[in-house]
Amino acid sequence: MIGSDSGECAPDAGGDFVETQIDTLQPIHFDIFTLFPTMFAGPLDESIIRRALDKALISICLHNIRDFTTDRHHICDDTPYGGGGGMIMKPEPIVRAVETVLTRPAGWSLAPDDVYVNLPPWSPETPAVLPAATPVILLTPQGRPLTQTVVAGLVQSRRLALICGRYEGIDERVRQIVTDEISLGDYVISGGELAAMIIVDAVTRQLPGALGYALGAHQDSHSPGLDGLLEGPQYTRPPLFRNQAIPPVLISGHHANVNRWRREQALLETLAKRPELLMRATLSPKDLAFLDAHGWTPVA
Ligand code: SAM
Repeated sequence: MIGSDSGECAPDAGGDFVETQIDTLQPIHFDIFTLFPTMFAGPLDESIIRRALDKALISICLHNIRDFTTDRHHICDDTPYGGGGGMIMKPEPIVRAVETVLTRPAGWSLAPDDVYVNLPPWSPETPAVLPAATPVILLTPQGRPLTQTVVAGLVQSRRLALICGRYEGIDERVRQIVTDEISLGDYVISGGELAAMIIVDAVTRQLPGALGYALGAHQDSHSPGLDGLLEGPQYTRPPLFRNQAIPPVLISGHHANVNRWRREQALLETLAKRPELLMRATLSPKDLAFLDAHGWTPVA
């Protein structure tokens, strides 16, 4: 289990680094504010994220927003002013949770016995001074779209706060403490939890030591190592499957030819699937000549 309803933290930084290349790396700490912390149990407890937690490349605290309520029924939502359907997340529990957590060291979370009954003092009127270096990110369909460039920016932070909305969204006044808004894309899902998990995954993959193959993330589609192109086709054994053989160059043993083939395949893949990416990609004269021969014309 990676967390609990009472905001238990996944393993903190503190384990020994096992690879010399990450000796000096500072881990990234995620504080995730949600009404549904148990949703995170599976996705953040497997594979690459699990390994990154075990290696202390990252640490995660799940904070249940409801834990920061003091009313009898622990209410976190209410009807919208002006009428209309659905419920809106109230501002006080979210702001109290974020301000309480972010004014304490990374790794702090409310002790299970303190939930509801023994909350640290907090002022609804006076905003807390939050650490400027910690982005407070609201997951919302109104945010800037999540791209590899946005992920690369997030990797620069040592601590990230992610606020997951639910219902019809949050009371607008929560935005007083929000420093960034990120969207998964131009569609609406039921809560920010899936978006938070995707951000944790995308950021973690970028950390040296997170992937089994060190250069993996660097050579993924959209990454700087591929100059923003899509990755070309990949093959593994068997050499023949359903009458389709692997391209002979891949077993030629000629590394320069393999690299050139991969580059050309990445250019063709991008031209076929996402031609608009070519306009932002870093292209060599050789790339441009190749694309020209395949009918691509740059659009101004
Ligand atoms: N009424 C809101 C609006 O139109 O902007 C949408 C509310 S949505 C049903 C509930 C929550 O899901 C949002 O507060 C947000 O946290 C999350 N959410 C929905 N779509 C999202 C997206 N595309 N990217 C990130 N978060 C999203």
